[in-house]
Amino acid sequence: MTGLTCVTQTDMKSLPVLPQAGNCAHNPFRPHSDHKPPMPGMGGSRQAHALDGQGGAGALGINAKYVAPNPMDARVQRFALQSVARAVLPGSRTSKCLRLRAHNSDVQVWKAVEYGTCQYAGLQTCGSVWTCPVCAAKIAERRRAEVLAAMESHKASGGTVLLLTLTTPHQRGDDLGELLARQAKAVKSFWADKTVRKVREDMGTIGQIRALEVTHGRRSPHNNGWHPHYHLLMFCGSGADSAQLKDWSVRLYLRWAACCVRAGLGEPSFEHGLKLHDGSKAAAYASKWGLEDEITKGHTKRAIHGETPFDLLRSVLADKADKQAAALFQEFAIQFKGKRQLHWSQGLKARFAIGEQSDEEISNHAEESAVLMGLITVDQWRDVLAVEARATVLEIAARTTWGHVLRYLDFIQGAHSGTVFDPGDLAEVRQILMSQPSMPP
Ligand SMILES: [Zn+2]
Repeated sequence: MTGLTCVTQTDMKSLPVLPQAGNCAHNPFRPHSDHKPPMPGMGGSRQAHALDGQGGAGALGINAKYVAPNPMDARVQRFALQSVARAVLPGSRTSKCLRLRAHNSDVQVWKAVEYGTCQYAGLQTCGSVWTCPVCAAKIAERRRAEVLAAMESHKASGGTVLLLTLTTPHQRGDDLGELLARQAKAVKSFWADKTVRKVREDMGTIGQIRALEVTHGRRSPHNNGWHPHYHLLMFCGSGADSAQLKDWSVRLYLRWAACCVRAGLGEPSFEHGLKLHDGSKAAAYASKWGLEDEITKGHTKRAIHGETPFDLLRSVLADKADKQAAALFQEFAIQFKGKRQLHWSQGLKARFAIGEQSDEEISNHAEESAVLMGLITVDQWRDVLAVEARATVLEIAARTTWGHVLRYLDFIQGAHSGTVFDPGDLAEVRQILMSQPSMPP
């Protein structure tokens, strides 16, 4: 597909402009008056144990009153959540993602000139859409662009895209693995069903993209456990009025209910089991696909309707005693490993000239038009990991100069070989560096 190489950038253009820390009236990074950077080891013997983007960086705490979302803030939060995933899934590929070096060389920091965001290169990435908040965001951005490009192209040639949602009854105490297996069985027999094939024909369907999602209802008034479900973007003919949609819905629902019962799932209600929405709903769904988890505010409110897996990580981040959230995330990670998040029906990608690129390739791909800001040596990188400052380094790099980054690296020197840093001191140094973006290095 021509132009796909730049969709990442196009997509990013819709993101809010990065605020200049020094110009903001509510600048959270303003240092205390006549405060000097504390020295390493000062302030007691507490071991630095903060998670990326928290504590050592102090970013989330400081930014609590200042929730203007921008690409760098979102990135900082992803690192913090990834550190939670590491604690919850020790030994997993995600636990090593953007920590271990990919080659025997220095770690690179790149800046995307147009957007002012920074990222690392030369590190291993896990490419997991399910368990890694950092890789998932990067992959989702690309996948969303692919989906939108196909939809746009289909629409331009006179087609319409409908949104079909399939859910099944589920209870608290259901085994997630069993639920998924039964759902997969129900979906398989649904598509093979004679009536369903006839309805697809009537709809003029040339293919569909299936998205697998899951939430957990532990915080809802009627906790009914795991809720895995499918959303399907159906690439159809010229569209239909509401009466036609209703007719297709009823015919499809009857077959879906039968397939669910046969797969041992019980009968879904007409109200919830199957929903067929028109093109506007399909467009709205696709345009925010994969972004839901980026919206940090309203987490508690959304949780009533079900927590996403990354919401579970947020719960652990907010409250380390939330053992239930950690256990649920572990169960989810085991059961979703190897599952496809987005599945394009055969031939659909080729039809719209969308190339095949693996999740791993996307997670490793460097941003276009980025410049190399500087290199971090092996020892410096060990220091960064020791104080969980991966996000802090990127933030400083994005908002100030490489000289500022070097000052920070100097400050944390020795962390990996036992020098103890107070998280409060680290947060303060970050704050001071960020508050003076043009300070000479
Ligand atoms: Zn990853």
